[in-house]
Amino acid sequence: MNIPVMHAARLAVAAALLVTCLGCGGPKKRKPIKLVDHYTVLPLDITEDDAPEIKNTYKIEIDPERIELTKEYLRLHNYELYRYLPTENLPSSIRFQPQIVVVHYTVIPTLKGVIDYFSPKIIDSSREAVAKNGALNVGVQFIVDRDGTIYSFYPENIMARHTIGLNHVAIGIENVGNADLGTPAGPGKLPLTPEQLDANEKLIRYLSGEYVTLRYLIGHHEYRDLENRRHPAGHLFHEDVPGYRTEKVDPGPNFMKKLRERLKKKP
Ligand SMILES: [Zn+2]
Repeated sequence: MNIPVMHAARLAVAAALLVTCLGCGGPKKRKPIKLVDHYTVLPLDITEDDAPEIKNTYKIEIDPERIELTKEYLRLHNYELYRYLPTENLPSSIRFQPQIVVVHYTVIPTLKGVIDYFSPKIIDSSREAVAKNGALNVGVQFIVDRDGTIYSFYPENIMARHTIGLNHVAIGIENVGNADLGTPAGPGKLPLTPEQLDANEKLIRYLSGEYVTLRYLIGHHEYRDLENRRHPAGHLFHEDVPGYRTEKVDPGPNFMKKLRERLKKKP
């Protein structure tokens, strides 16, 4: 390209930018992220006494069909990662390095109901928006019952489907309940309990001791914040399907605030 042509091209770009800016009324301001509210850097102080009791009563077997379904999910949603998965269907082929914990509540009001819902490998086809994005059922690594009992469901470092954009790096904790901690209880309202708060704290302390790669903690309702690359954990978010997003309110801001306050203190 000779100089006059390059100059003309620059002018054209400048003119285009000017038109764009006139059209939008000035540069767009990005919503600032309040870091302290949105993440907790791990690891935290761990002592031997912190290891919680984790029951294996409902722990599932990661069989070849579930592995195949998980790979299919990754093919649709994270092709970069899918390309490098081992071809054989061993549990180790869908193992991941945990980097973030995502806390949820189940909406389903009982532990039995949750186990029944999560156990099938194929997703309930009535969840249309979710089902058309892969047949793998939703699942999670841990379930915390209302009395604070912790159940292992998936192995800790095997990928489960619980949070769009983060399943390849996230350990999920589901809490049985359907409302934020501190919400008045009532007919059909099951706010998260202080026992669940205790259990989540213990479990996350334990996990941060087990996995040096684990650095972040969010509530499911905060997951879309990670689409902002300025978020400290924004580099973890990866979703190939445009527009495949859900709006979440679990587990709620009060539960996450209390959990973060506790985790920032020494045990
Ligand atoms: Zn959730």
